[in-house]
Amino acid sequence: MTDVHIIGGGLAGSEAAWQLAEAGVKVRLSEMRGSGEMTPAHQTDGLAELVCSNSFRSDDAEKNAVGLLHQEMRDLNSLIIGQGDKHRLPAGSALAVDRDHFSEGVTKVLCEHPNVDIVRERVDKLPESGLTIVATGPLTAMALAESIGAATGEDSLAFFDAIAPIVYKDSINMNIAWMQSRWDKIGPEGDGKDYINCPMDKARYEAFIQGLLEGEKTDFKEWEKNTPYFEGCMPIEVMASRGSETLRFGPMKPVGLTNAHTGESAYAVVQLRQDNALGTLWNMVGFQTKLKYGAQADLLKTIPGLENAEFARMGGLHRNTFINAPKLLDKQMRLKKAPHIRFAGQITGCEGYVESAAVGLMVGRMVAAEIKGETFTYPPQTTAFGALLSHITGGADARDYQPMNVNFGLFPPFEQRVKKKERKEAYTARARADFVEWHRPLSAKGMQLA
Ligand code: FAD
Repeated sequence: MTDVHIIGGGLAGSEAAWQLAEAGVKVRLSEMRGSGEMTPAHQTDGLAELVCSNSFRSDDAEKNAVGLLHQEMRDLNSLIIGQGDKHRLPAGSALAVDRDHFSEGVTKVLCEHPNVDIVRERVDKLPESGLTIVATGPLTAMALAESIGAATGEDSLAFFDAIAPIVYKDSINMNIAWMQSRWDKIGPEGDGKDYINCPMDKARYEAFIQGLLEGEKTDFKEWEKNTPYFEGCMPIEVMASRGSETLRFGPMKPVGLTNAHTGESAYAVVQLRQDNALGTLWNMVGFQTKLKYGAQADLLKTIPGLENAEFARMGGLHRNTFINAPKLLDKQMRLKKAPHIRFAGQITGCEGYVESAAVGLMVGRMVAAEIKGETFTYPPQTTAFGALLSHITGGADARDYQPMNVNFGLFPPFEQRVKKKERKEAYTARARADFVEWHRPLSAKGMQLA
């Protein structure tokens, strides 16, 4: 007799299973690999296989948001970070792991846990009843993806991400850029100044187009090539290759905008739109691209106003199944329409191994609390967990929801001014203090790192 059905034994599903099992809850973990099925990216039958890099990125909990998340996960007895630490390889300040030993370690721990029943099976339909966690990741098998699409509505499930670069607002030079909506249009919540605009003259625009066409691009993987991504999210370099004026009639059109500093019209304009409720992150409208990160950052910094831009996320396009979580899920990661179903991992629109496992960890704890009739206290938004979860369940703009790594732009800004070079440490110090406060009642019950 199981209490919870977890679908998908990747980073998120494995972590959720562990958290539940350790809380005394019986889990059925369905993983299709090992039953004759495989995703296009996985190579083994091991749970929590790392499909690409062997790094969990920075382990610096004082200056880096993902390092901070590692630490919070350690404090909550994370299986993924625990096994990562155990199989760590030398990699400077990064947490890199021996991928085979890591996956074998996760698999062994869960196989041996008396509360976990691992079943090698592909699940094709969302269960109609019973507490369920869907953690099938960016490469969710098609039949289940269709069942999710039917439950959530077609527009709320994506098979490709189309990521436009995201810029920290405080790194934009507002002496060059200005705020204005095209034709000064006032939306329901706006004031006619909803966008940040960066002007380009003819020479700058032409140099930019040339840079786009010549810049080094990332290739699509063989299995990504057949997906029709071109419909709504064409990369800017593909648009540019159709003619030098295409972008000026597309995402870089200057019409309806007047430079507030000079009173003139620009030859072309790059627009940025607010990306999170906090107003700290702004995305470059229509700028999804497959330019390699280095080439991309160099080229984007030639845009007037972005010469010192710092990027919370670079642009990209990948095969990636994810739901429109801010629209579909409640704060407890439950599908509003079918609250017995929760989602966890990359399918919720977080991005990365660590973030996927972190969401799995929290969702596991939410379900455990529900089963035990306890109140789940949400981690404060000032912590890495809280910032990530708040983004997924409502902080992000549901109209253009795209996958996101944890980063300091998701944290509430400080009320008083903090010097830029002290800001990262200030974020982590505040997060640590608030995390300890939030965690205190849990530690009293022994729910922390053994
Ligand atoms: P997964 O780890 O993919 O786990 C999902 C599991 O569900 C899989 O084991 C799958 O077999 C199973 N499954 C799917 N459908 C079904 C079904 N119907 N029934 C039963 N089981 C099912 N992130 C990084 O941080 N670094 C990287 O280098 C990186 N590289 C990536 C490369 C590629 C090609 C892709 C696609 C993603 C990459 N990611 C990377 C992003 C992402 O963080 C990882 O994919 C991560 O593994 C997501 O964790 P998850 O638990 O959500 O999904």
